[in-house]
Parts: sequence; structure tokens; C-alpha cells
Amino acid sequence: MNDVDFREPWSRLDAEHGQSFENEAHVEVAPAHELHGLALRALAQCQGCDNVVFRASDDTFAIVHLTWSRKPEAPPWPLTTRLGGFIAVEAAMDQHQH
Ligand SMILES: [Zn+2]
Repeated sequence: MNDVDFREPWSRLDAEHGQSFENEAHVEVAPAHELHGLALRALAQCQGCDNVVFRASDDTFAIVHLTWSRKPEAPPWPLTTRLGGFIAVEAAMDQHQH
């Protein structure tokens, strides 16, 4: 996952650009949210919407639609699709449509 480029509309986020998404996710994910308590690393961003692919500290993946409210959201927001592993996240990215 670290040495491949993603298919359009997904673009890779390097550490510098990923940081702002990680910071925003940390703010928006409230205690009752399914991602709360997990460290998230931003991997890719969709160019057509605000969806971001994160790798979580439990080695799962999540596609999260950040709201950019810059405050804690009421779960289930930010809307999240949990994915168990690399194959699942790759398939979900391939099937992603607007
Ligand atoms: Zn999209």
C-alpha cells in the first residue's frame, strides 16, 4: 500500500498533506464513534468528493467522509465505511462512484 499509486479519482496523500486530514478526523470523531480511540493515518483522498482513506492503528482501513466542521460530530458522522484489510479497501476504492 505504500509503494503503489492509486487509481483515479484517488490520489495518494504524503505525510505532509495527510496531516491536515488526520487532524480533522481526530477532531470530528467523538467518543461514541466507531473510530474513536484509533490512531488514523491518511493514505488517499478522492478528488471528486471529500472521502479520505485512512489506515487505523488496529490494522483495519476506513473510508471517511469528513465534514470539515472542525468540531466533534454526532455519530455516525463523520460517515465511515470500515474495511478489514488491503484487499477490501482496494475493492472499495475501485467501486467508489459519485
Ligand atoms: Zn469520491
